[in-house]
Amino acid sequence: MHLIIAEKNISANRIAQLLAGNEKVKAVKEGSVSTYSFDNKTVVGLKGHVVEVDFEPGYTNWRSEINTPRSLIDAGTVKKPTEKKIVSLIQKLSKKADLVTIATDYDTEGELIGKEAYELVRAVNPSVRINRARFSAITPAEIRSAFENLTDLDFALAAAGETRQAIDLMWGASLTRFISLAARRGGRDILSVGRVQSPTLAMIVDREREIENFVPQTYWMLSLTTEKDGQPVEARHTAGRFTDHEAALAAEAGTKEPLVVTDVKEGQKNDRAPTPFDTTTFIVAASRLGLSAANAMRIAEDLYMNGYISYPRTDNTVYPKSLDLNGVLETLRGGVFDADVAWVQQHRREVPTRGKKESTDHPPIHPAGAATREALGQDRWKVYELIVRRFLATLSPDATWTTTKCTFDASGEPYTATGGRLLSAGWRRVYPYSEAKENILPIFTPGERLPIQKVNLEEKQTQPPARYSQSRLIQVMEELGLGTKSTRHEVIGKLVSRRYVEGNPLRPTLVGRAVTDALDNHADTITEPEMTRTLEEHMQLIKQSQRSRDDVIGESREMLHRVFDKLEAHEKEIGGEIMEQTAEEHTLGPCPACGHDLRIRHLGVSQFIGCTGYPECRFNISLPGSTWGRAIRIEETCPEHGLSHVRLIRKGSPPWTIGCPLCSHIASNVEALRMMPSMTDDLVRHLHEHHRYTVSEIAGMQPGDLAVIAGVDAEGAGRLIREAEDALEVLRRRSELRKFVRKIVPPRKGRSHAKITRSLLEQGIGDIHALSRADPAALKKAGIGEAGASELLAAARGLCNERLLREAGIPAVSLKKYQAGGVASPDDLCYLPIPYLSSKTGINPETVHKHVDMVCRHLGRSTPAKVSKVALERGRRELLEVPGIGEATVERLYLAGIYDAATLREADPEEVSSISGIAKARLYDYISHLK
Ligand SMILES: [Zn+2]
Ligand SMILES: [Zn+2]
Repeated sequence: MHLIIAEKNISANRIAQLLAGNEKVKAVKEGSVSTYSFDNKTVVGLKGHVVEVDFEPGYTNWRSEINTPRSLIDAGTVKKPTEKKIVSLIQKLSKKADLVTIATDYDTEGELIGKEAYELVRAVNPSVRINRARFSAITPAEIRSAFENLTDLDFALAAAGETRQAIDLMWGASLTRFISLAARRGGRDILSVGRVQSPTLAMIVDREREIENFVPQTYWMLSLTTEKDGQPVEARHTAGRFTDHEAALAAEAGTKEPLVVTDVKEGQKNDRAPTPFDTTTFIVAASRLGLSAANAMRIAEDLYMNGYISYPRTDNTVYPKSLDLNGVLETLRGGVFDADVAWVQQHRREVPTRGKKESTDHPPIHPAGAATREALGQDRWKVYELIVRRFLATLSPDATWTTTKCTFDASGEPYTATGGRLLSAGWRRVYPYSEAKENILPIFTPGERLPIQKVNLEEKQTQPPARYSQSRLIQVMEELGLGTKSTRHEVIGKLVSRRYVEGNPLRPTLVGRAVTDALDNHADTITEPEMTRTLEEHMQLIKQSQRSRDDVIGESREMLHRVFDKLEAHEKEIGGEIMEQTAEEHTLGPCPACGHDLRIRHLGVSQFIGCTGYPECRFNISLPGSTWGRAIRIEETCPEHGLSHVRLIRKGSPPWTIGCPLCSHIASNVEALRMMPSMTDDLVRHLHEHHRYTVSEIAGMQPGDLAVIAGVDAEGAGRLIREAEDALEVLRRRSELRKFVRKIVPPRKGRSHAKITRSLLEQGIGDIHALSRADPAALKKAGIGEAGASELLAAARGLCNERLLREAGIPAVSLKKYQAGGVASPDDLCYLPIPYLSSKTGINPETVHKHVDMVCRHLGRSTPAKVSKVALERGRRELLEVPGIGEATVERLYLAGIYDAATLREADPEEVSSISGIAKARLYDYISHLK
């Protein structure tokens, strides 16, 4: 069998279809992994990396004394499968294979993924031949040619990928741990540091600082408006920016008629067609269409996988000779681009445009297959069309412009106006993404006199440098050698998701600045692009087999040790600087009670808003636990309370904006205050004025204090406190009910637990006890199905029974035995015969009697008579002597209260039969035997 391993499931499917031609491909799902078979071939897809590199065991404890952050530099690593199902399927198939072809993407990352697959195969089949298919587009021609020209895996290329992986892990893990520990951050708050990430963040922070330190300069621009044949023309003073106001005013005053045309120059300008797309120029162009870098790449990859475009990760801007440009044009014929393609075919430029970068691995991004708007959907179509049009533009002639430059003299003050007219649109016909603005001047002749309609002196200010947009940042990263075409957009995505930067254009957050500043001050190697750039150069050398992986990793290790020398010497300062700078991140504004700052506090999974005046001021606002999302401060502020708004953010779900924490605190507690019968609007206002918002605050107050605050007498205050305690109890039970329902009834779409409990509450079911006695119809009304309702009722009854038995004094050990015997309700204990209870639970009958007595007293019922252990054992022997009575029958007789010969002899067979289910005739037999 010939096993073919592709990078992803979707490309596996497509490669199989293309290779099979007219033959039918059989798709089979094993586990959750699909395989595609035809002939004697099977194609299976990976999920990118299916193994990951991690440290050897023993390095998981961040606070270990021995395995310090620095120890991670020299820690050994292991490869662990991350996609176990795929790994085991590949190994299963490998055992049967007589040829394996690796058909992953063709670049460093793809080669490394290919090598990982290679190792998986080798581990179970050491002798099978393994080769490599390389292609730049998943199209019939490319795939066919790749499989006709199979080569070997490029181990040097894969080694470069492995080196990067190892170094990233080593730098990222050790520095992240060090910085997080220094700043006392753990869990979700860790401060990540990375080899490419940190210098990129530093650029954004530097730019922000430049903007903040920018001092704007005032300057003046002078222009005039004239006209010819009814067409207004604006001319600018040739001095350009006046930085001296006096000079500008003098030039303005000197600008007088007559305005004389002194010179007219006509020229022609060539407007070059754009060069082919590499990844960076593609991302920049896509960002003009409103797509973020990550989005543009995601869509491009999808288009590639489906054979619509060539491989989108490329640094090449020159079409290779092997690329069949005519063939690509032909595939685009017939669709919406038909007219444009025909035009390009007629007006083809001699050679296509070429950019500055040329590499051999992949061609520039170009269309590979025809598509329709309907098949792709809006965003994918937008990207596809951009790539098609760019391709057409690179084959189109340049555009040409005629330019006019006119100079004027206004009584000694020189002015100029320029115009441009598109002479031939060239590539602009097929690539409408960059605007060509024509400015056509009237025809002027030297010596001609014109009127001055207006003189305009404008005051302006120099502008600070702009913040980086995502696409601009990617360009700069490329210039600085930071990251690769495949990783740049991911690095930016990480900075956003780690909350180091926000917005587009990108702005650093407080944390982002704090971490960058601390690193800058104490170990600038991490924030300077130099180190990362050196590594990229070393990677190139590894690819060319001029340096070894171990050698480069060794050098990087040494460099990192030197970084740690500096970091460890200043651990306290680094931590202190970060903590001081980030405290502000959690500060919301003034405490309503004392005026100190309110701050968001995180304690494990719980979080709340506390006052920095604690312990003198105990004001605080509770927040939902961090499982609902981590509380952060956002830009908006409450006009009434001056507090920053709060939002809960959780990965993978939409944020929950709480808004002003105090407004929300007040709103959510007013209803509870209203549960107190004596509460009035006035009282609520008094309480709010004294910053008391919750029932529990009132319940916890001294009557004297409350009397002052609420403006009531001592008796009234006492009553309020009691009412508050009652309300608290009702609330406590409600919350218990809510938790109980949430535990038993599984969450489902469109059925929120809040809705269920609200409906129960409306029907008067406010606690678990009420629930245990509820009518199933009420539960149905609350949106719980029949099965769920009976389960919920049974669980509620069980819990109430258990509580009651505990209250009556039944010890926990015995309670368990009653439950195991299925006789754990108070009614069971009060009404079932003691011999039966004893036999069901294995508890001594005398102890059972004691328990029964406890429960009956608790419920105000009378206790049945005692049965001694001796009597029970004797009775049992008597019963077993009766012919026809066995162990099972004894148990059934116990249920009817019969436990010895005497009670059996006295029994009424009718009644015993109905309780025990023993046939009447048999009972008569037993009794007559005894008589
Ligand atoms: Zn306070
Ligand atoms: Zn507010």
